[in-house]
Amino acid sequence: MWIPYNYFTMHTLHPIIHKHISLKPYHTFGINVLAAGLAQFESLGQLQALLATAEAQQFKKLLVLGGGSNVLFTQPFDGLVLKNNIDGITVVAEDDEQVWVKAGAGVNWHALVMHAVNHGWGGIENLALIPGCVGAGPMQNIGAYGVELQSVFHQLEAYHLHDKTCVSFSLADCSFGYRDSVFKRALKGQFVILSVTLRLQKQPKFNVGYGAIRTQLEEMGVQELTLQAVSNAVIAIRQSKLPDPAVLGNAGSFFKNPTVDASVFASIQQQFSAVVGYPQANGMVKLAAGWLIEQCGLKGFRLGQAGVHGKQALVLVNHGNTTGTEVLALSKMVIAAVQSKFGVVLEAEVNVY
Ligand code: FAD
Ligand code: NAP
Repeated sequence: MWIPYNYFTMHTLHPIIHKHISLKPYHTFGINVLAAGLAQFESLGQLQALLATAEAQQFKKLLVLGGGSNVLFTQPFDGLVLKNNIDGITVVAEDDEQVWVKAGAGVNWHALVMHAVNHGWGGIENLALIPGCVGAGPMQNIGAYGVELQSVFHQLEAYHLHDKTCVSFSLADCSFGYRDSVFKRALKGQFVILSVTLRLQKQPKFNVGYGAIRTQLEEMGVQELTLQAVSNAVIAIRQSKLPDPAVLGNAGSFFKNPTVDASVFASIQQQFSAVVGYPQANGMVKLAAGWLIEQCGLKGFRLGQAGVHGKQALVLVNHGNTTGTEVLALSKMVIAAVQSKFGVVLEAEVNVY
């Protein structure tokens, strides 16, 4: 049975727009930067009301935020930040083998993973503990431990800011790639994602081929694979090596892992025999950016209050009171060092504003 989501209901209450507000609590880098305005919405009706107000008050630009775990602010945000809190997880269809689960864009991603694990639905257990909200998942086709969102994605609904219409996107429409989608490219800044529907498996097919998971399961003494065991293994690995943003500000991997031609990989390997490459379906080879940065001697390096994390060099961190420009300057130093040593140009994964 179709159950309407709260975003289809028209809320008469207009959410409050807070003016000249610090974004520090709204993003995981914990940088103190001001926004001209910030408001939170829980439904499409509230979003529409806010957009009308933003137009009347002539806000120069808009930015939708979920958990703020993939953004870096390098200057005050001269516009209205819209924090998406659309809630709700519903089964919209099922058959003997699969279940289609629709989640509001404001649902915490890890809460959705735990919901699936607890209901025995497989497909996203390897994506446990990724910070942020469901609505941002399609933005960069979130991925970890050998699984990407696209492998379970069914469709999403989004609101077009200019046309003021709701549009459905199928898997093909999203043009998912490695940490990439149409929403980061051709449609950048045009849509607010309202909900995402995933197709999950009632008889899970486990994906534990990613080295660290198998080792972790062995260490945990797991005899039989279950969704709980796999998600617990992923959680344990992540907690052991990734900085908790509540303790040390960061936005996860600052850079994407670069992919290079097989010939480029071969020439790097001639010089650096320990380099690890992961062959891709398109014949390219993916390199571990963290390893490249570490080889440049930058693991644990600091520039003022910004730093390269001591356990995972792919993560840039805020040691207390850094600024977005300082983090950006550090990222440029890292890019230059890796380019000079390996001839490979790293690209930022984090969305810089
Ligand atoms: P935000 O940071 O709020 O937004 C990110 C971008 O998406 C922004 O451009 C924003 O405008 C846009 N956006 C957000 N919501 C919407 C919406 N509803 N509609 C339209 N646009 C929207 N990522 C991975 O892929 N794999 C990982 O394993 C991983 N591990 C991480 C570990 C740590 C410790 C941290 C801090 C980050 C990690 N990340 C990882 C990055 C990040 O958590 C993900 O990219 C996540 O999906 C971001 O969600 P968010 O809600 O915080 O997005
Ligand atoms: P890791 O296990 O130390 O591995 C280093 C890199 O090698 C990873 O980035 C991974 O690429 C690649 N890799 C390792 N084993 C692989 C395999 N069997 N097949 C293909 N590629 C392999 O990485 P980590 O830093 O601890 O992160 C673990 C996972 O969490 C990774 O998937 C990573 O992407 C994800 N993660 C993402 C973020 C983020 O912000 N985007 C932050 C933390 C962790 P891939 O990254 O392509 O998987």
